Amino acid sequence: MSKYDHIRLSAYNANMQLPKLGLVLFTFGNVSAADRELGVFAIKPSGVPYEDLSPEKMVIVDFDGNTIEGGLRPSSDTKTHAVLYKHWEDISGIVHTHSTYATAWAQSQRSIPIFGTTHADHLTVDIPCAPPMSDEMIKGNYEYETGFQIMDYFKEQGLDYKEVEMVLVGNHAPFTWGKTAEKAVYNSAVLETVAQMALLTEQINNNAPRLKDALIKKHYERKHGPDSYYGQ
Ligand SMILES: [Zn+2]
Repeated sequence: MSKYDHIRLSAYNANMQLPKLGLVLFTFGNVSAADRELGVFAIKPSGVPYEDLSPEKMVIVDFDGNTIEGGLRPSSDTKTHAVLYKHWEDISGIVHTHSTYATAWAQSQRSIPIFGTTHADHLTVDIPCAPPMSDEMIKGNYEYETGFQIMDYFKEQGLDYKEVEMVLVGNHAPFTWGKTAEKAVYNSAVLETVAQMALLTEQINNNAPRLKDALIKKHYERKHGPDSYYGQ
């Protein structure tokens, strides 16, 4: 028994969702689950196949990226998770995948245009694509700087991480987050579907218009607004 068992279990369950949802291949991808009061998160160990994972194998790390408990090396992307937890105080789950369609948009260095109501059910803006990282950042503390690349882009674009829970990092792949690891995984799956739909939309009509404001507002607010009426 450890005081970290609850986040180990939550990180394990969330990580196991990634292959089930078709969001990862081999050991690609990682999910973490944080406990804000304890100031730590549980994250997948590096390079361990999904079928060999267990809750006990999740590594406990603090918001500065130091391993607190666990016998395995944490995911190579751990420092990106740590930086985001440290500065974005309302999130307790983060996911990173190289899911095919979202990654294709990231590699194309394009934000995903808001074409339809599936997109608008989740956010009112294009899914942002941060620019590729500078040589300086890449040669430096790369995974740590990836977190800053994301946060700096949100600041520059005036985006609120509580409303836009996903980003593409140019040339790389998506990151998503949320109040729980489960919500962050949900956001990764939504992103992948929206990315696929947007690609098909452009293939069918390369002049497809953005969704009109009235529909963006309607769909977002019926799920998220003060008078939301979606669900039970
Ligand atoms: Zn990656």
